[in-house]
Amino acid sequence: MTSPQPHTTSYYAATAGEPTDYPPLEGDVDTDVCVIGAGFTGVSAALHLAERGYRVRLLEANRIGWGASGRNGGQVIGGISGEHVIARRNPAGGEELVWQMRWAGHDIIRDRVQRYDIDCDLKWGYLDVALLPRHMRDFEREHQRLERHRFPYEFRLNDVAATRELIGTKAYIGSLLNMGNGHLHPLRLCIGEARAASGLGAAIHEKSPVTGIEHGARPRVRTDRGSVSADFVVLAGNAYHDVDRRLRGFLFPVNSFIIATEPLPPEVVARINPRDLAVCDPNFVLEYFRLSADKRLLFGGRLRHFGEDQDVIRTALRRKMLRIYPSLDRYAIDYAWTGTIGVTVNRVPQLGRLAPNVFYSQGYSGHGVNVTHLAGQIVAEAIAGTMERFDVFERIRPVVLPGAWLLRRPLVELGLMYYQLRDRI
Ligand SMILES: Cc1cc2nc3c(=O)[nH]c(=O)nc-3n(C[C@H](O)[C@H](O)[C@H](O)COP(=O)(O)OP(=O)(O)OC[C@H]3O[C@@H](n4cnc5c(N)ncnc54)[C@H](O)[C@@H]3O)c2cc1C
Repeated sequence: MTSPQPHTTSYYAATAGEPTDYPPLEGDVDTDVCVIGAGFTGVSAALHLAERGYRVRLLEANRIGWGASGRNGGQVIGGISGEHVIARRNPAGGEELVWQMRWAGHDIIRDRVQRYDIDCDLKWGYLDVALLPRHMRDFEREHQRLERHRFPYEFRLNDVAATRELIGTKAYIGSLLNMGNGHLHPLRLCIGEARAASGLGAAIHEKSPVTGIEHGARPRVRTDRGSVSADFVVLAGNAYHDVDRRLRGFLFPVNSFIIATEPLPPEVVARINPRDLAVCDPNFVLEYFRLSADKRLLFGGRLRHFGEDQDVIRTALRRKMLRIYPSLDRYAIDYAWTGTIGVTVNRVPQLGRLAPNVFYSQGYSGHGVNVTHLAGQIVAEAIAGTMERFDVFERIRPVVLPGAWLLRRPLVELGLMYYQLRDRI
């Protein structure tokens, strides 16, 4: 366990507003539910539980939103990773259930931003872009699905010319516009939701790394300076989890990287993204980008780099960005950072229990902004005794790879090479 860390070098940390300053846990306390990890999963669960009247203690090793939740692309993507597996393993009504859950996280975010007045630059509008004909065929199928379900927001397939009009680049052969997806400032959302939970009585402790759990009828969660005894524990450390080794073996920690340019002039913005859309390609070793509220291009992707060296990230991602927008070569890169995503072997998010009263939720495989919000709600429901949606996930047992954590670097490197090749076919 390392000592508490400040936020990373991200654009989000620099623009998060007033820093959070919740006190570390001191002494031994008692509560209904102890949540470990204050990313979207933990904060979402804490807020759902506080809304239901539970006494909650939320323990965060570093700062609210310090992990992937405060570092990500901010893209509110529709869907759940591994949907086909979830539908197959839940034959009775699985398709329909998956469809409803695909957008449930969006509704939670939309509702919370309004209800708790969270200033997180939420914008609706999203473009899936195609690099290969098979991507367009997938978008056509998705378009048919949206039509079949009478999706209530604007959606449209675009050819190469229409795509170019939307995002000012010839890099893509077509796209699918979906105004039901969107983008936001994730760290501000996470901090705003934590503030809402605190306002409803949840006790939040930053700089409080959990060092262990004593399991039993009332588990006891220990930090260096105190402990929390609770009826239930929720483990929400995802790829940063370090409390129980079993959970580590279920996940591959894969890094994703982002740069932010300096603010771009209005004429450039009008050329490259007049409708302010979030953009993402369908590759596994994918690229994604969008404008921030102050009109920087935030450009993200995966690299075969395992450190946090800002110069390496800046150089590699700038090169990728210029392939799409060569004219941005005159603008400086103000920020570069990385974060770790929890990727599961079958790509299905893992919601389960280590003991009847110890829940976990992790492994959103890159689709976390939306699905963490849903997962927090599902875990809160399960604690309150409604298991229906929790069971949908719990019955899909995690695929465990022996040595996955110890050998994570060579395995991830191999995986990236394999997927990079597959992406091209
Ligand atoms: C660079 C990047 C870009 C991404 N882009 C997108 C995107 O555009 N759209 C999208 O949907 N998803 C995206 N994702 C994925 C998404 O961010 C994650 O799926 C999601 O944020 C996971 O949230 P979480 O709360 O489960 O985990 P995290 O946000 O990682 O939070 C885990 C928290 O647990 C804490 N913790 C760990 N161990 C302990 C302990 N022992 N004691 C106390 N606290 C502990 C950590 O400090 C951390 O704050 C991206 C991820 C990254 C890294």
